[in-house]
Amino acid sequence: MKVKLLCYTPDPERVCAAAALTSPGSGGTSEIFESLDLEKARKTLKRIMGYGHVSVIEHANFTFSLEEVSRALTHQLVRHRIASYTQQSQRYVTYDTLQEYVTPPSIAEKPEAKKIFDETLENISKTYQKLLDLGIHKEDARYILPNAAKTNIIVTMNARELRHFFNLRCCARTQWELREVATEMLRQVKKVAPSIFENAGPNCVELEFCPEGKLKPPECNIEEIKARFRSL
Ligand SMILES: Cc1cc2nc3c(=O)[nH]c(=O)nc-3n(C[C@H](O)[C@H](O)[C@H](O)COP(=O)(O)OP(=O)(O)OC[C@H]3O[C@@H](n4cnc5c(N)ncnc54)[C@H](O)[C@@H]3O)c2cc1C
Repeated sequence: MKVKLLCYTPDPERVCAAAALTSPGSGGTSEIFESLDLEKARKTLKRIMGYGHVSVIEHANFTFSLEEVSRALTHQLVRHRIASYTQQSQRYVTYDTLQEYVTPPSIAEKPEAKKIFDETLENISKTYQKLLDLGIHKEDARYILPNAAKTNIIVTMNARELRHFFNLRCCARTQWELREVATEMLRQVKKVAPSIFENAGPNCVELEFCPEGKLKPPECNIEEIKARFRSL
């Protein structure tokens, strides 16, 4: 998998802080923005977000390229509705080699499982190719492609939606591939907008408890998770 933050709203912390200061300000946002230094912007965001007034961070957008991820991943990703997506098409792109599948580590590390997995994918590849050779269009031949098929997708989310996405998808309850992608996305946005993503991560990082109740995975150590995400 490859995760790359392609672009984002310039000066995201100053833009969001200027939005926050527009509410009590007597002047226009342009004037507030021009006179706002980064340190004051960060302090403002910490205070305003601490009140729970998080709509101001909707003014910052972040666009990622997610490459060589599985269709299983993108199916879960696109359930997040406050976002824009464009995905590689299985109608136009031909899947023709075994390089184009994601193998979960749990399968890769178990030789017997890996053998069944690889054989099945090989059969699928051959059948897919046979269907194409029979003149079946890619848009119909793709019906036999598995969730493991690799794909590329571009996604844009605003910072509020991203924080919500990280709450759910950096959590140990989320499937490994999407969790790895979400955690890498968080690592990259923290670098460019630290005050907006302070304390972002699975719900337990912010709440200091696990809201999953009985579903909390037994291996979860909240202190360890908090430390890991705060130092990302
Ligand atoms: C561990 C885990 C397991 C899951 N298992 C399943 C499963 O078995 N089956 C399944 O189908 N899905 C499953 N999901 C997906 C889950 O149900 C959500 O569809 C997905 O996480 C998107 O979350 P969301 O709706 O909060 O977020 P988004 O779509 O990102 O929306 C963000 C927020 O905007 C608001 N919002 C958005 N749209 C509306 C709307 N139409 N009406 C009102 N408010 C809205 C809500 O407050 C929402 O939380 C799972 C998710 C996780 C994290």
